[in-house]
Amino acid sequence: MTNMIGEAWRAGKSFVTGLNITFKEMVFRPAITVFYPDELDTVPAWFRGIPLLKTDLLTGEYNCTSCGLCVEACPVNVITLEWHQDPITKKKVADRYAIDMSRCMLCNYCIEACPFDALVMGMDYELCKVDPENMVYEMEYLLRLGLKYSSVAQPGPKAKKGALPPWVFHELTGATEEDIQDEAGFLGRAPQAKGYTPVLKAQYRKEETVVDQPPAPAPAKVEAKVAVAPAATPGMVPPDQPPANPGGTESGNKDGEEAE
Ligand code: SF4
Ligand code: SF4
Repeated sequence: MTNMIGEAWRAGKSFVTGLNITFKEMVFRPAITVFYPDELDTVPAWFRGIPLLKTDLLTGEYNCTSCGLCVEACPVNVITLEWHQDPITKKKVADRYAIDMSRCMLCNYCIEACPFDALVMGMDYELCKVDPENMVYEMEYLLRLGLKYSSVAQPGPKAKKGALPPWVFHELTGATEEDIQDEAGFLGRAPQAKGYTPVLKAQYRKEETVVDQPPAPAPAKVEAKVAVAPAATPGMVPPDQPPANPGGTESGNKDGEEAE
């Protein structure tokens, strides 16, 4: 009998505790519904979205040197890299760089393997496609999305002799020169003078993180003082310069493999 009373007491207590939690969540917790796709949710800084290619915003050249280390590092072999050797500079030039996002694990290994800071895990997460074949993201798309994660190489970048700006390669995938221009029309053209600061077009700008401000103090009765906030400092990115590869073939795909 004592056992039954004890059981009934514990059951009743857990029932009331559960109802209490439900009531608190329902009444006191603000709604966190995001009306996607009209609204987009904000993601944390460590979020891993699509691996994207970065561009040096001063020269307009992409940072990738076609070294192939990311291809080696990818555990599911979804990166396709095709390149040829530039006859003047003897350096590798990428003809195709594509990632099959239908099989990418978002593991970050390719970013860690890249010695030239050419890749970044973007914060874009809208990957839905009707046709799975469209999940193969080509170089032009990866570069375009990667613009907002790109910055100016430091110290002043050297002009690469004989190198072509990325929009030339984008002809392979249908991009236009205008896609890769900044507001002043410079990005993707001839290297600019040291000190020039590119301003990306609005669609390529990284969204600012909104930090909650503390509540404003109540107005003073007699006189109020005005505080001036310090200016922000832009981020830095290390330079890149690939080694020449005299042994490269005219057209190469790493180990002759394709992602899919
Ligand atoms: S994130 Fe991982 S799976 Fe995706 S391309 Fe990079 S290495 Fe491959
Ligand atoms: S490791 Fe970096 S530089 Fe090398 S091919 Fe991959 S993205 Fe390009």
